[in-house]
Amino acid sequence: MSRDQLWVPSGPRQAAGTTHTVENVPPAPPDQNLYLEDPVLVDLVRREEIEWVHDRAVNVGEIVGSARMRELARVANHERPTLRTHDGVGNRIDQVDFHPAYHEVMAATFETETHSLPWTVDEPGGQTARNVLYYLWNQAENGAVGCPNCMTWAIVPLLRSDPEIGNRWLDKIVAPGYDPRPAHVDDKAAISVAMAMTEKQGGSDVRANTTRAVPTGNGREYLITGHKYFVSAPMGDILLLTAQTDAGVTLFIAPRILDDGTRNNIRIQRLKDKLGNTSNATSEVEFEVAVGYRIGEEGRGIASFVKHMTHYIRMALATGSAGIMRRAVTSAIHHTTHRKAFGATVRDQPMMQNTLADLAIESEAALLLGTRVTRAADDSASMESAELLNRILVPIAKYWNCRRASSVTLEALECHGGMGYIEDQPIPLLYREAPLNSVWEGTSVIMGLDVERSLLRTPETGDALLDEIKLAAGANRHLDTYVTDLERELLRARGDFEPHARRLMTMIAKATQGSLLLRQSTPAVADTFCASRLGGEWGNEYGTLDQDADTLREIVDRAALT
Ligand SMILES: Cc1cc2nc3c(=O)[nH]c(=O)nc-3n(C[C@H](O)[C@H](O)[C@H](O)COP(=O)(O)OP(=O)(O)OC[C@H]3O[C@@H](n4cnc5c(N)ncnc54)[C@H](O)[C@@H]3O)c2cc1C
Repeated sequence: MSRDQLWVPSGPRQAAGTTHTVENVPPAPPDQNLYLEDPVLVDLVRREEIEWVHDRAVNVGEIVGSARMRELARVANHERPTLRTHDGVGNRIDQVDFHPAYHEVMAATFETETHSLPWTVDEPGGQTARNVLYYLWNQAENGAVGCPNCMTWAIVPLLRSDPEIGNRWLDKIVAPGYDPRPAHVDDKAAISVAMAMTEKQGGSDVRANTTRAVPTGNGREYLITGHKYFVSAPMGDILLLTAQTDAGVTLFIAPRILDDGTRNNIRIQRLKDKLGNTSNATSEVEFEVAVGYRIGEEGRGIASFVKHMTHYIRMALATGSAGIMRRAVTSAIHHTTHRKAFGATVRDQPMMQNTLADLAIESEAALLLGTRVTRAADDSASMESAELLNRILVPIAKYWNCRRASSVTLEALECHGGMGYIEDQPIPLLYREAPLNSVWEGTSVIMGLDVERSLLRTPETGDALLDEIKLAAGANRHLDTYVTDLERELLRARGDFEPHARRLMTMIAKATQGSLLLRQSTPAVADTFCASRLGGEWGNEYGTLDQDADTLREIVDRAALT
């Protein structure tokens, strides 16, 4: 091709060698404060009377909304951790190496005390306040905060349930800071936690564990032999695990470094090649006569773990998924605000307004549901009804929010057009992250079994639930009719809940969200939610709201970062 045949752009030349003018491409978002620029969240802090967390939330909001954190999250997930089983001369070292970006994210999450807040402050509403920070962090990076940070936070009630053994580690667990060195706990200012329950032959069914623990005769010390098929964050300083004793499944803590300074016999076999959550090293591990210390009674491991730890993690995951949804929605709004098609801004075009509004109400409903269970956790100590509500609503919120995250990220991806498929954007990361929360800490089915147990053993939990939903009675005709249907369906399923569990959990979740929105959000959001999700004025796909243009615009404007 001769030079005469080359096409030359008619506009001003950008620079030598360019072929076109770059235009109509959304810029990378600037540094933003994801707390201060989110009026819904700021309002929630005021309404929940946890203003004491405001300054902390401002700090976290700034960190998670910074361009630097966006880049760290991208790199930490792109540059995957690698395993070195041996050193250069053949000694076993079981060391996972991470990119410095991962360590920086980890340090930031632990320094903001997202792993310790309710346990260390003497303020009302500690769980609700921590929930705000956790929601914000899940808008930045999920591998570090969703796993090691969350495990470290959630093990505290379990250790407190058995202070004789738990006190060994508690102070270091709640200490602010992050120290990834493979060193003895006494030589560290702060430590982190990993969890090893799942085995090859059974994950949901932990009773199927084959790992064995034998007492050494030295107090709570046991020797543990067996395998674990999923151990995320294996660089944790202590591993919580289940193993069989003669009395059944029992909980143990295995330190990575023993009191004599040698490595415990915990062998990392390989790191898993995962769909998402790639910053977080998930490993397969073998315990070869490893030292562990029993927590709680022999044979009571599952009950103790569910009550004192899993319940908390499930509570956090409900809000973690709300954070994922929020980030997907704000990213979609940002992209469509700065993109034109057919001569108009994409955000303003009718079908996109409908879609963004639909995503926005889903996201806000998820935040309120996640917050409600943490508020109930805070109130549990003084109110029996709150304890009952928390008991039954945690698995429902975990089920529903975690399920919704995938559909929201998928729709938000499409809002970005082709760019939504490209790794420069946050959306691919969120899209791959979204399904995980509904798998770990119990799948949807396991949540259904948990709800069934609550209703059978403590029927008052069902009353607490209906009382909560009915706080908005009379505020919206769709909700009123839906609650009547729900009560009838619950009655119908009495004694035979399991086959109907997912349908009923879905109904309960949506009714609770409708009730919360009617009490805590704007009429535009609440009425649109109730009409679409409860009243059937919806096509079960985003963008199918039956609502006027002004209302849709109001909802999208409310969801946009200011
Ligand atoms: C990225 C990642 C990280 C993880 N990290 C950890 C970790 O750090 N520590 C850890 O211990 N585990 C971890 N896990 C494991 C996770 O907790 C388990 O995968 C999960 O609990 C499900 O167990 P499973 O894989 O054995 O599936 P299964 O229990 O075999 O379930 C398979 C299917 O059967 C269904 N099912 C089970 N019981 C019933 C029933 N009664 N009725 C109907 N359906 C049923 C389930 O819902 C599921 O759909 C991780 C998993 C992933 C994906």
